[in-house]
Amino acid sequence: MPLDVGMGILLAIFVSRTGLLPLSAAAVAAGILFSLLPDLDFLLHLARQGTGRFSHEHRDLLHNPLVFISAGTIFLAFMNGGLALLFALSAIAHFLHDSVGMGWGVRWAYPFSKKYYKFFSDPNGHASRRFLVSWTPDAQRAAAAEFGDPHWLSDYLKLSREFLIELGVLAAALILLFAAGFRI
Ligand SMILES: [Zn+2]
Repeated sequence: MPLDVGMGILLAIFVSRTGLLPLSAAAVAAGILFSLLPDLDFLLHLARQGTGRFSHEHRDLLHNPLVFISAGTIFLAFMNGGLALLFALSAIAHFLHDSVGMGWGVRWAYPFSKKYYKFFSDPNGHASRRFLVSWTPDAQRAAAAEFGDPHWLSDYLKLSREFLIELGVLAAALILLFAAGFRI
């Protein structure tokens, strides 16, 4: 999550450099919001299930890049081109982040395919040099049940290496933000 926030800040800086959006508090807030927005389905999942145990299942509602990105970008393009660009880039960054490391992939080709795709993973979900792995919904559920870490959320938050790297990216983004002339 800190990585998503950091990427939202970095992308707000980037889009401001195109001249489409001034580097305001609203633009930075929008970048952060857009970068986190797909995980709204995780909150809905937690509210419904009360547990993060099989949280990969939350990714069925909003984690469909073709649908989510095109719908949001087209909607925002009617209001503000800079916001639309910021939304598209933030969402792409989020889905790429979700396609490596933890988790069980993203349905990149939905609605044309229900398969989940993950980069640099073996079929058991562990880090690997293999560029791409994919699961059908049934295969993903079976792999997650067998190889999934039921404590992934608490392990991740317990200052895991991934979490520390994400905090580093967030810190770098904040430094760049103020170096770019942003003032609250
Ligand atoms: Zn996500």
